[in-house]
Amino acid sequence: MVDVEKIRKEFPGLEREFYGRRLVYLDNTATSQTPRRVVDAISDMYLNHKANVHRGVSTISQEATELQEETRRKITAWINASSIEEVIFTRGTTEGINAVASSFGERFKEGDEIILSEMEHHANIVPWQLLRARKGIVIKVIPLASDKSTLDMETYRRLFTERTVMVSVCHVSNVLGTINPVEEIISIAHSHGVPVLIDGAQAVPHMRIDVRKLDADFYVFSSHKMYGPCGVGILYGKKEHLESMPPYQGGGEMIEKVTFPHTTWASLPFKFEAGTPDFVGISALSAAIDFMEEIGMENIADHEEELLQYATEKLIAVPRLRILGEARHKSAVISFLLGNAHPYDTGMLLDKLGIAVRTGHHCAQPLMSALGIEGTVRASFAVYNTREEVDILVNSIKRVAPILD
Ligand code: PLP
Repeated sequence: MVDVEKIRKEFPGLEREFYGRRLVYLDNTATSQTPRRVVDAISDMYLNHKANVHRGVSTISQEATELQEETRRKITAWINASSIEEVIFTRGTTEGINAVASSFGERFKEGDEIILSEMEHHANIVPWQLLRARKGIVIKVIPLASDKSTLDMETYRRLFTERTVMVSVCHVSNVLGTINPVEEIISIAHSHGVPVLIDGAQAVPHMRIDVRKLDADFYVFSSHKMYGPCGVGILYGKKEHLESMPPYQGGGEMIEKVTFPHTTWASLPFKFEAGTPDFVGISALSAAIDFMEEIGMENIADHEEELLQYATEKLIAVPRLRILGEARHKSAVISFLLGNAHPYDTGMLLDKLGIAVRTGHHCAQPLMSALGIEGTVRASFAVYNTREEVDILVNSIKRVAPILD
């Protein structure tokens, strides 16, 4: 069981008031709130351990390095990677996908095909389009099934040809909440000898991830969505792939020996970590993992599932409210439309009632086109949200509905 009241004490921001009402923060898909221990870790790092990592003989530099590397070890165990060599620090999911598209994609030839899905975030579309402009690859798309919530797996199977070189799909949709059958997606791709990147931005904060069980070739996620600091992300890659890939960026830290005629690369994972990393944020991410592990990933998942069920039941009973995304396996993300109201207007009025939701296309314009809409209102939940907050959301929607529709 999750002791939400105790958990909320770690988040002073949740006590803030807007327009005379206590904040109801339901924009966790965009970014989660940050517990005090993570902010304390950032502040401790800045105040007491700030020295550049990997460069110094000084004790303080070694201390900073150790704090950064402790996070790498923790992540390695947490996602069940084989070794720390497979865990690369990035700025976030976006950078992780760009790194793979740019570096792994370097080997692709004109006419090679990659498979994405219709429910991808722009972060898992545009990097591949940049690669297409450079290499002349072809992008194929797994469409939504007729339920407009899940992927059409039959079509997915048929998209493979002898030219298919990569599959890249999200684990959880940031709009529909759909939890994709990534194990099956990966195993189908592997049966064709095709590697798979999984965009785990919306999965990692909500469920236990085992990259080896999934057999993912690449798995990317962002710290700021999992109670950690901004500006930090993880790119997991199988060692055999990472070893075969050229560096993504050049600079300090990622080299072994530099001469003007020739430069050799540092070993993994440093080959992909050019320049000074955000070692403050990286070390503080460790506290975010502790926070989640103390509660337990299974307990987080159960709590959020209960909120999802409760909120869905209440929301479908609201007249003229339509939920988009009704997959059976769903994360606690609810996109909805209220009659003919523009999502922006709904979001703005809810804000005046102290509720933070997100409105718009959610960086998934192709998905909006597939759904035949311009945008949605999205309420998304984290471990600190409560049933009482769901009630406030539902009552507030009922209150604003007559004004809007
Ligand atoms: N992928 C998905 C599914 C997302 O939801 C997001 C952010 O909302 C991203 C990628 C991009 O993450 P970031 O902006 O942290 O790089």
